[in-house]
Amino acid sequence: MDNLSNISVVKELLSRHGFTFSKALGQNFLVNPTVCPKIAEMGNAKPGFGIIEIGTGIGVLTNELCKRADKVVAIEIDDRLKPVLEETLSEYDNFKLIISDVLKVDLHELIRQEFEGLDVAVCANLPYYITSPIIMSLLESRLPIKSVTVMVQKEAGTRLLAKVGSRDMGAVTVAVNYFSEPRLLFNVSRGSFMPSPNVDSCVIRFDIRESTPAGVTDEQFFFKTVRAAFSQRRKTLSNSVSSAMGIDKSVVASAIEASSLSPSCRPEALSMEQLILFCENLRKLL
Ligand code: SAM
Repeated sequence: MDNLSNISVVKELLSRHGFTFSKALGQNFLVNPTVCPKIAEMGNAKPGFGIIEIGTGIGVLTNELCKRADKVVAIEIDDRLKPVLEETLSEYDNFKLIISDVLKVDLHELIRQEFEGLDVAVCANLPYYITSPIIMSLLESRLPIKSVTVMVQKEAGTRLLAKVGSRDMGAVTVAVNYFSEPRLLFNVSRGSFMPSPNVDSCVIRFDIRESTPAGVTDEQFFFKTVRAAFSQRRKTLSNSVSSAMGIDKSVVASAIEASSLSPSCRPEALSMEQLILFCENLRKLL
């Protein structure tokens, strides 16, 4: 069905199915007709690709993905949308729906079973309440995928798009830059959604790196230390890491010195290489 961004079509469809929006599930559906074709085109939906979509809503983006990619597997948590999708996507035989919480799906297994011989990409207009957990789980689980293209609310976008070593950065900035090269594709105004949220959104594509930055011996320790470093904003690296990880200040100070950093440096001033060096030096001292 092609007119899923037409407000009267959407209202008629939803009322016929007795569907009401769930705020708790982040259900703001896209009704701006220009947005979904752009996400699909810029998000690698093309021949030779299988697409995993997270959160279908009524299928407005799914429809554009099915038109362009070889296969689309969508994961939607809300089973009330199943009959709606059976109607709106009935013309496609390259579509499969999985009703589940995306965080509970084994995506490695899904890719093995559904996308043999295809390159794989993820596309989604993400539910805002679990934006970071979803992005982090997609990246950290090292899925064999080329890209993750997602719509997120502007505030989350600022953190995800911050440069490592800039004021806006946080632990999530380090993680996304470790696994991928993030780039802003375009902005989307709040009026493009039904119901309309209180903030604007943006679409970001994370191009997955073929190899992650060198020098990390223990990824789990690296990310634990990075989270500790950014746990108290605007504090020094030394204070944040020693208090969040319960490590003696003198040990953290030695790691800072061994990394040729200033004793009063702040984590947001460090480059990826400096963070990696500091974490490695700290690990060796423990
Ligand atoms: N793609 C549609 C669109 O653009 O109109 C819907 C986007 S809406 C922002 C987010 C969708 O994600 C909703 O359909 C919601 O039910 C679904 N969702 C929420 N939490 C989810 C989860 N944990 N796993 C899978 N889907 C989820």
